[in-house]
Amino acid sequence: MSRHVGIIGHPVGHSLSPAFQSAAFAHCGLDVVYERWDTPLADLPGRVAALRAPDVLGANVTVPHKEAVIPLLDEVGGQAARAGAVNTIVNRDGRLFGFNTDGPGFVAALRQEALVEPGGRSFLLLGAGGAARGIALALIDARAARVDIWNRTPARAADLAADLGPPARALADLPALGLYDCLVNCTTIGMRGGPAPDAAPAPLESAGPDLLVVDIVYAPLETPLLREAAARGLHTLGGLPMLIYQGALAFELWTGLPAPVDVMFAAARNELARREGAAR
Ligand code: NAP
Repeated sequence: MSRHVGIIGHPVGHSLSPAFQSAAFAHCGLDVVYERWDTPLADLPGRVAALRAPDVLGANVTVPHKEAVIPLLDEVGGQAARAGAVNTIVNRDGRLFGFNTDGPGFVAALRQEALVEPGGRSFLLLGAGGAARGIALALIDARAARVDIWNRTPARAADLAADLGPPARALADLPALGLYDCLVNCTTIGMRGGPAPDAAPAPLESAGPDLLVVDIVYAPLETPLLREAAARGLHTLGGLPMLIYQGALAFELWTGLPAPVDVMFAAARNELARREGAAR
């Protein structure tokens, strides 16, 4: 009998998770079907209750339900409770456990793909939404020395930094980049279909030669920020690795098996290329 897992959100048609999770299950010889569960808010309690069925491994959760699922679960793990957001649900014998693998996925991407250990390093995060919160938490857990947060709406950055405590700090103005080891775009600027697809979220003139520029936006793979950073000879990391590693951690929670990360990357890249071809 097939088992099931899926992504709960609204909408979910754009999600890459079905492509790379299905490839991972197939590669591991598991009879698991990964489905798109488009769920308006009114249907969320019923959708989550259905995850308790014995043939369901769990789910991923995406926008706009990462916070709203929490009261519907039996237990919410430390990272998810502190982030106030769940992106992965695991069904264990009818009990539902909530996790958040977004921030840990970001740190895994830094370590595995950029070969950067965040401990002792200085980070500047642009943005103060859900992604910035998860990333800041994971960087603090990884013992980053400095986690500065700048946001278009300064009060949101101040609230986030106050919630997190030191070493997180909110900045009212964009600082000189020479102070940092790593700049991370956690805004929607540069995202296809977002508010400013052709813009970069910050100028890079003040960057030192060793700055790592990370953009967590993954559509397109090469954002205006990454293009400008590469033109300046800076190190770069795109958003796809974070997406894959948060998915790899979810895969491991559902199955107890190591995730076939290379297979997941290849499937995601194929799907993105297919979509870019179809859009042309
Ligand atoms: P969110 O909670 O809606 O936060 C959006 C952030 O973008 C806020 O800080 C917002 O600032 C800022 N922003 C929006 N429009 C702006 C503009 N015109 N100028 C300046 N700032 C602007 O979204 P999120 O869930 O954190 O996601 C943020 C981005 O990360 C999205 O592009 C998402 O696709 C990407 N993401 C990637 C991954 C991955 O695995 N790679 C995972 C999660 C998210 P205000 O507070 O001023 O509105």
